[in-house]
Amino acid sequence: MKLKRSHYGGSLTEDLVGQTVTACGWVQTRRDMGGVIFIDLRDRTGLLQVVFDRRDLSAAEFAVAEHLKNESVLAVQGPICIRDPETYNPKLPTGTIELRATRLELLSTAATPPFFIEQAGSVREDLRLRYRYLDLRRPQLQHNLRFRHQLQRATENYLDAHGFWQVETPILTKSTPEGARDYLVPSRVHPGDFYALPQSPQLFKQLLMVGGLDRYYQVARCFRDEDLRADRQPEFTQVDMELSFVDQEDILAHLEDLFKTVVQEVTGIRVESPFPRLTWQQAMDLYGSDKPDLRFGLPITDITAIAAQCHFSVFRRVCDGGGVVRAICVPGGDAFTRTQIDRLTTTARRCGAGGMAWISLRPDGQVYSILTKYLTAEEIAAITAATGAQNGDFILFCADDLATVRRTLGTLRLAVADMLGLRRPGEYRFLLVTDFPQFEYSAEEKRWVSTHHPFTMPCEQDLPYLQSDPGRVRAQAYDVVLNGVELGSGSMRIHRPDIQRQMFTALGFTQQQIEQRFGFFVEAFHYGAPPHGGFAFGLDRLAMLLLGAGSLRDVIAFPKSKDAACPLTGAPGRVDAAQLAALHLEGGRPTAGGAQPPAAPAVDVDAVAALAMLELTPAEREKAAADLHAMLDFTGQLAAIDTAGVEPTAHVLPLQNVFRPDVPSPGDFHDQLLAMAPTTYKNYIRLPDRDEKGGAKA
Ligand code: ASP
Repeated sequence: MKLKRSHYGGSLTEDLVGQTVTACGWVQTRRDMGGVIFIDLRDRTGLLQVVFDRRDLSAAEFAVAEHLKNESVLAVQGPICIRDPETYNPKLPTGTIELRATRLELLSTAATPPFFIEQAGSVREDLRLRYRYLDLRRPQLQHNLRFRHQLQRATENYLDAHGFWQVETPILTKSTPEGARDYLVPSRVHPGDFYALPQSPQLFKQLLMVGGLDRYYQVARCFRDEDLRADRQPEFTQVDMELSFVDQEDILAHLEDLFKTVVQEVTGIRVESPFPRLTWQQAMDLYGSDKPDLRFGLPITDITAIAAQCHFSVFRRVCDGGGVVRAICVPGGDAFTRTQIDRLTTTARRCGAGGMAWISLRPDGQVYSILTKYLTAEEIAAITAATGAQNGDFILFCADDLATVRRTLGTLRLAVADMLGLRRPGEYRFLLVTDFPQFEYSAEEKRWVSTHHPFTMPCEQDLPYLQSDPGRVRAQAYDVVLNGVELGSGSMRIHRPDIQRQMFTALGFTQQQIEQRFGFFVEAFHYGAPPHGGFAFGLDRLAMLLLGAGSLRDVIAFPKSKDAACPLTGAPGRVDAAQLAALHLEGGRPTAGGAQPPAAPAVDVDAVAALAMLELTPAEREKAAADLHAMLDFTGQLAAIDTAGVEPTAHVLPLQNVFRPDVPSPGDFHDQLLAMAPTTYKNYIRLPDRDEKGGAKA
């Protein structure tokens, strides 16, 4: 008879001692003591020690136990017993008990796994992703996925209790602009036409409001084809919501309550509310970022007024040119080592600043800085007073155009916080950022683009500037930030078709483009649209932050790797010519003889650049990545060409051997070369000896 599980092995306790139970799971380890075999049986609740004693089992079952392989799957039955005290394992919740097997059923035999589950934490990530189903057996990943499930459930419970209905929206749809490229799906039925996968359910959730649903939410999968940075995935999950007949304050109050309730429920941590608020402008000026980490202070002080009048020509020149000079005071930063200061300076340069000026105030009040050569004692005192610096503090400066100064000081602020260990794990600081600019200028596209998305309502008083001065228009848009990470964004929406048209025009769309891309959407607003607004936050991202996980990949069961590939399935992959033909994509590179060239291996451009000792700008990096991929792709195509049975040939033209007498060519080229060489030895050009690092030897 087949054994049927009665209990999860990892959750058994001493209360069950004496009872016969049946547990199922995977063999984590096996120790053969001759006549008695011990295994650790793993299930999703943990480990349980199982003992196979020759005297308790049939000969056939014991023989199975003798040959058990790691990761094989078993069902075992027997009484739960207290272990001998000297074999207690204090590291396991089940460390004082064991199951003495009287029956054993081998459900599946495992081949030797490419890594041991208990050691998987230190295994290369690409290998773990390739065998993700083994990686998923790790308690850490199971814990993360369970936590994520609880987080999602708590969020859904909250939304349900507040009258939100979950409604599904289409995946095969029209482009929804959120600032990334679309993933496209060719239509077989409509030759040459494509669906776009949604970058978000934005258009549909607004149409649900026009449809009178009043409060909507969806745990929605979104797809954005963008270059993957550390905390991005091409497909991710958003908790998406929309509400009718509300204003911005109503939505922000909801969000505070939602996050507070959910965080308390899943972590037990009480979050203070109301959350602090900053306008976008304040956040950028005070912290150099629209998503500042508020677990620590280190605000930025504007000292442009002092710098514009001072004796230091570098500061004065920047101010005269319309730039700004700003500073951060680091309490206790006088203890920074030279190496740390050099590291900060390199960071400043990477952000585009010319360098980083600094002043160190020694504990005895002495001023230590190169700036003492250029600034008077009064000027230094004015700066110290403006930044609030005390003895023992360190002031760092950036003088440049506004954008560079914000970017540089925002980055330095984080770098300093990391050096001083100020980003404390386990502490949660929420922040609301409001009043984002409606547009930002894209130098690449040479036009204004939406900071949020084109459906965001501008602040009423800025409406007159939509066409004439887009740069000054503020949006009724807001972000929720947690510990320096943008959790999500939202906005009040445009619900008047005339304003929506004006917005598209301000973004540079022609009437024809508006009709073609968004005609159905604008039309809907002619039939009675309620004022509405909404928000969406990244579920993966919130789970990652609350778990203190290092990567989104740690909270997604089957994530993509950094180059948007799935190492487990090999997606994206080539499809055969017949499939392409059915989709009317014959031009899409059918391969010779139906053979599929292997997908080009992923190239880690950063690793290649590091090997070549090259520092790449983002544009160079993108170009290098494209070139390397094109090369690998081409090699892949060459490798896939079917050359079986083809006559080997070295030349495409018929060959005829020609014999030429072996006579050295006339002329004194050799002498000319020697004459041009800086140093010669006999008849040779002499090159300086080089040491290993490429420097000339003395
Ligand atoms: N659709 C927006 C996004 O995905 C969120 C919103 O405005 O509700 O970021």
